[in-house]
Amino acid sequence: GNKNINAKLVLLGDVGAGKSSLVLRFVKGQFIEFQESTIGAAFFSQTLAVNDATVKFEIWDTAGQERYHSLAPMYYRGAAAAIIVYDITNQASFERGKKWVQELQAQGNPNMVMALAGNKADLLDAKKVEAEEAQAYAQEHGLFFMETSAKTATNVNDVFYEIAKRLPRV
Ligand code: GDP
Ligand code: MG
Repeated sequence: GNKNINAKLVLLGDVGAGKSSLVLRFVKGQFIEFQESTIGAAFFSQTLAVNDATVKFEIWDTAGQERYHSLAPMYYRGAAAAIIVYDITNQASFERGKKWVQELQAQGNPNMVMALAGNKADLLDAKKVEAEEAQAYAQEHGLFFMETSAKTATNVNDVFYEIAKRLPRV
């Protein structure tokens, strides 16, 4: 029969990478050019139907600022899934993303489904992080990788859909 799955999902990544924009696109189908910085964290929920299940995502959109770092474990502890977001036009944000992967692999739920999202894929001319490099990193660390654009909606639903498919069926 059809299964109902509740899945806590956390977005982590550098400030400005586009975490809130990805959530806004996924939950409301909108994009805001001057998205305000997240304070602490924000909560959203959205349901997605995959073949054999209905997945209710309970989404924690974290701030990304270093001064909120100590709060992060509250959001990723017990999470079934994480999306680590970087900005393809910003090498430092990719490096920051790798730090989050390290932290999750050291402290998070070992069965967590992890996605690496190279966001702002619409800004091709300003691209600094090649997809091949991110893909290789993701493969080596057991994440799946997609380039996304919250602005154009490219691959946004797909990231959540792919996570939903990979969640353990209990
Ligand atoms: P956060 O700090 O990771 O939550 O990042 P935000 O979602 O607040 O986005 C930071 C800035 O990048 C905002 O001005 C967004 O409008 C912009 N932005 C987010 N996603 C995209 C994208 O896919 N393409 C482009 N061109 N800009 C984006
Ligand atoms: Mg934000």
